[in-house]
Amino acid sequence: MTLRYRAPGRVNLIGEHTDYNDGYVLPAAIAFDTVATVSPAEKLELVSLNDPPAGWERYVLGVIEQLQKRGVVIPPVRLVFDSSVPIGAGLSSSAALEVSAALALLGAAKRELGKLEIAQLCQQAEVETVGLACGIMDQFIAMHGKANHAVLLDCRTLVSRQVRIPKDIALVIADTRLKHELASSEYNTRKAECEAAALELGVTSLRDANVWNGNRRARHIVTENARVLSFVESLETNERRMMGELMAASHASLRDDYEVSCPELDLMVECAQRCPGLIGARMTGGGFGGSTINLVAAEHSEAFRDRLARLYEAETGKAPNILITKAADGASASTDDPRIQ
Ligand code: ADP
Ligand code: MG
Repeated sequence: MTLRYRAPGRVNLIGEHTDYNDGYVLPAAIAFDTVATVSPAEKLELVSLNDPPAGWERYVLGVIEQLQKRGVVIPPVRLVFDSSVPIGAGLSSSAALEVSAALALLGAAKRELGKLEIAQLCQQAEVETVGLACGIMDQFIAMHGKANHAVLLDCRTLVSRQVRIPKDIALVIADTRLKHELASSEYNTRKAECEAAALELGVTSLRDANVWNGNRRARHIVTENARVLSFVESLETNERRMMGELMAASHASLRDDYEVSCPELDLMVECAQRCPGLIGARMTGGGFGGSTINLVAAEHSEAFRDRLARLYEAETGKAPNILITKAADGASASTDDPRIQ
């Protein structure tokens, strides 16, 4: 029998690089996803219809290993992935791949696991098999996303809360098309720097710090955690000026203190200030390329997109890929093909 499952990409509204510091994040799942189709086969076959770079299979092999560790017996299957999530754009195509694979393999094995356990095993696959020391955010939101909501997650306790995004606010994602290739080595370096800073400050993790003693990495994490909580308040009360200020401060902190931005991301954020309907703009995801997130008054979203594309292209000679989306539900069995039950 053929089964099909979907898992969404995500955009993080605020709370960047805080997840692996036991901090707060505020991602939303987006209306772009990876669909995994699984059917019986003689032996394991992995196919991607998205022309990914060599070595992509290790994400799936990592998931298989983690499932097996949990006693899941996986029959020989053919797994075909088809994704609308831009790859390497900071929208977590990797978690969408892992989570869609995990659901498909569990379906084939006729097993069920809890949502949080699935998110955690996918994170472990990325850490152990791919070698990126990532936090839980991407896999968590791929499982727990909620239409029209962002999700406030405390990455220490794993307690989460859905926060409604006002209907008339659009999520506009501007992909620079610059692949974040530096990201994985720098990412692991930042994680090590944060651990060293926590040690120096005498805390378990930077989540517990409220001073930074001149350490700029620590200052980013401490101030970013506070910004997430203030941003949630401003979203709930629809205070748009405050949202914009917090997003601008987050971007500046990532650029100057955490040093994970790049000229293209900075330019995209600057250009956004000159476009109609902007509420707030910042880089999103790990950095060194990838995308910015723009909160935009929905009635202006198309004009915003067109003008941002023109301004950015005029400066760089490169056309960005701009997506207008809204918060979507987390992973599920897919029912979009009536032939498949
Ligand atoms: P991001 O998660 O921001 O898109 P990553 O570098 O973390 O970027 O993950 C991108 C990698 O994940 C790709 O290089 C590829 O190995 C794998 N990947 C993601 N989506 C797919 C897909 N649909 N098919 C095959 N591989 C994929
Ligand atoms: Mg990723």
